[in-house]
Amino acid sequence: MSTNEQALFLPADEVVLTNVKRLGLMGGTFDPIHQGHLVTAEAVRTGFGLDKVVFVPSGQPPHKADRKVTPKERRFLMTELATVTNPYFEVSRVELDRTGFSYSADTVGFFRSQMEKDSELYFITGADAIMEIITWKKLDELFSQCTLIAATRPGFQEKSMVERLERQLKPEYLSKVIPIEVPAMAISSTDIRDRVALGRSIKYLLPESVELYIHKQELYIHG
Ligand code: ATP
Ligand code: MG
Repeated sequence: MSTNEQALFLPADEVVLTNVKRLGLMGGTFDPIHQGHLVTAEAVRTGFGLDKVVFVPSGQPPHKADRKVTPKERRFLMTELATVTNPYFEVSRVELDRTGFSYSADTVGFFRSQMEKDSELYFITGADAIMEIITWKKLDELFSQCTLIAATRPGFQEKSMVERLERQLKPEYLSKVIPIEVPAMAISSTDIRDRVALGRSIKYLLPESVELYIHKQELYIHG
């Protein structure tokens, strides 16, 4: 096999960040990725003038230890399928190829190390994930490197989030958490998995390519 042929069988290259001044990162289990993630990422991209949004599927996440998470290569593939139609979206393997748990601060640090000093990094999460912020490790490291964007789901009490953050975060970090409202996005991976297990439709809750992949591979039929 020639070197060129061999290259075809190598895992996908890591994301190239040349000329990226404003980068968004969206971490998640993506089991499966859905329109909530995609609409949020696109809203932040356009709202904050980002050059690129990189989706970072997690390895085996510590907080999902109670449930069997779909193998990482399948979650990676679903994330690839879902993002292929958006030229500003990319998928990183960084947490998948790392052994052990990954902390957000490590992942942010990894991307930061490849960008120029004056570039801006935005870490996009759902507001529910922000509420778990105190359990995050390396908080100082995280806030010194990025701004957090907290996407709120419908019916979410933004005020209570702000009050909790005020109680739990150092004052200088409060301005580094920016809430944004994402319209009509009550979609969750849990609900999609439950629907599949119950034989209900998941159409339009996620990209058709991901829906077809789930059915073809018979994912989630047992919950
Ligand atoms: P699960 O139901 O298994 O917890 P999930 O739908 O919350 O899955 P994750 O992969 O856990 O999906 O989420 C990745 C990130 O996307 C988290 O920061 C989460 O808060 C955020 N997120 C999840 N669903 C939405 C949504 N509908 N709108 C905006 N952000 C979301
Ligand atoms: Mg979740």
